[in-house]
Amino acid sequence: MEYEPVIGLEVHARINSETKLFCRCSNNIFNEKPNSHVCGICMGFPGMLPATNEQAVKKGAKTGLALSCTVNEFSKFDRKSYFYPDLPSGFQTSQYDKPIAEHGKLNITLSDGSVKEIGVTRLHLENDAGKLTHTSGGTLVDYNRSGTPLMEIVSEPDIRSVEEASLYVRQLQKIVRYVNTSDANMEKGQMRFDINVSLRPKGQEKFGTRSETKNLNSFRSLEKALEYEIKRQTELLESGGTVVQETRGWDDDKEVTVSQRGKEEAADYRYFPEPDIPPIIVTKEEIEQLRSELPELPGVKAKRYQEELGLSVIDANNIAADVEMADFFEKATKVSGSPKKTANWLLSELIGQLKSYNMAFYDNKLSPENLGKLVKLIEEGVISNKIAKDIFKEVYQGNLDPEKVVEEKGLKVMSDTGELEKVCQQVIDRNPAIVADFKGGKEKAIGGLVGQVMGATKGSANPKMVNEILRKLLS
Ligand code: ADP
Ligand code: MG
Ligand code: ZN
Repeated sequence: MEYEPVIGLEVHARINSETKLFCRCSNNIFNEKPNSHVCGICMGFPGMLPATNEQAVKKGAKTGLALSCTVNEFSKFDRKSYFYPDLPSGFQTSQYDKPIAEHGKLNITLSDGSVKEIGVTRLHLENDAGKLTHTSGGTLVDYNRSGTPLMEIVSEPDIRSVEEASLYVRQLQKIVRYVNTSDANMEKGQMRFDINVSLRPKGQEKFGTRSETKNLNSFRSLEKALEYEIKRQTELLESGGTVVQETRGWDDDKEVTVSQRGKEEAADYRYFPEPDIPPIIVTKEEIEQLRSELPELPGVKAKRYQEELGLSVIDANNIAADVEMADFFEKATKVSGSPKKTANWLLSELIGQLKSYNMAFYDNKLSPENLGKLVKLIEEGVISNKIAKDIFKEVYQGNLDPEKVVEEKGLKVMSDTGELEKVCQQVIDRNPAIVADFKGGKEKAIGGLVGQVMGATKGSANPKMVNEILRKLLS
């Protein structure tokens, strides 16, 4: 029997507010000395009164709007009780039945260019736990992370493949970065995933039983864990077994999911309304204010790049997906005057350079002006595409002004027709056999002559012009 995977994702993203969710401790905890950003509130001391961080709530609501959610004018916090040494209060403060935002959606662009909508069930706020480190001498606990604000974004079970899941989380990362509500940097533990996977026979409506694998902390482990779970469940079902509803963990070294415990239900957590924190009230006006602060989102931007600037679907989506790349592209295009060519250079040459150094776009040191100038030099026929490629690495590495590089190295296209004609004649004189081929009807033979002229001029001639001159001289 053929099975179809059904996937729903829960994404935890750390909100990039200055302070934690319920206290004034700093939220910038990466690589900080253990337990250096803690207080009685975030360490769960009895009798301490939390106060909700308005900035974090607004960022959560704003993310909801960016995901086309309804932001609830009334939402509240609930206690989710469980015991763990990294959770000193014995409960997590989360949102159960009244989340800050719900009923949203996110579009992903599949590799065939088609767009698929994934439903976003809800976005709720909660505080994170501390962090345990197991050593040979015992277990250490660092409470710096305790109380930092998370938004949990829960998808509908609309995802049908590893590819779709991967596109969804990448798009989500782009969006929270766009609206500047989370840095979503996985190396810094700012984004984690839980995956819910079930299988059903192709054509069947009803969902199968799901497993939930928690705490994946990279795109790669998300993809690997999904592949593993789909394979595991397929084999289980094909051999006549049944999938049990349970919580699993991911072993990154062995690349397998392992059963941790039976599925806990809401009742196991003894959810109850948080008595120490007043409900969150957001007015219609505040919601509209937040909406007006949203930047142009990737989907809208990509559409504009296609319709107004003539980019291909793929190029438009690739550039628009990354807010920094999009800004860069728009600035460079202003200088070059040619959006399509700028997109090409950005996506192939610049990204190529970055990849060769294993760098992400935000590591880029080349200014958009200098890329724009380079493209303009090609567009105006001052340098050939080949010359541009030759000098690109140098321009990129030093963030140099390409106009100056071209000037200093004397790389301008030979536009002196007389000079070029002389070289063409020399090449014709030296190659009677090729000339005979061409005159005998072998159209392609002219390529050999053009190549030689390009060689003789060290690539500084305009191949189109060379072609024309050769044809004129041979006619
Ligand atoms: P819980 O609180 O137990 O994690 P939820 O109802 O909030 O349960 O669902 C969590 C996630 O599981 C959601 O992303 C949802 O889309 C997904 N999900 C629910 N049912 C299934 C299923 N049968 N197969 C795959 N995913 C599912
Ligand atoms: Mg869950
Ligand atoms: Zn604190």
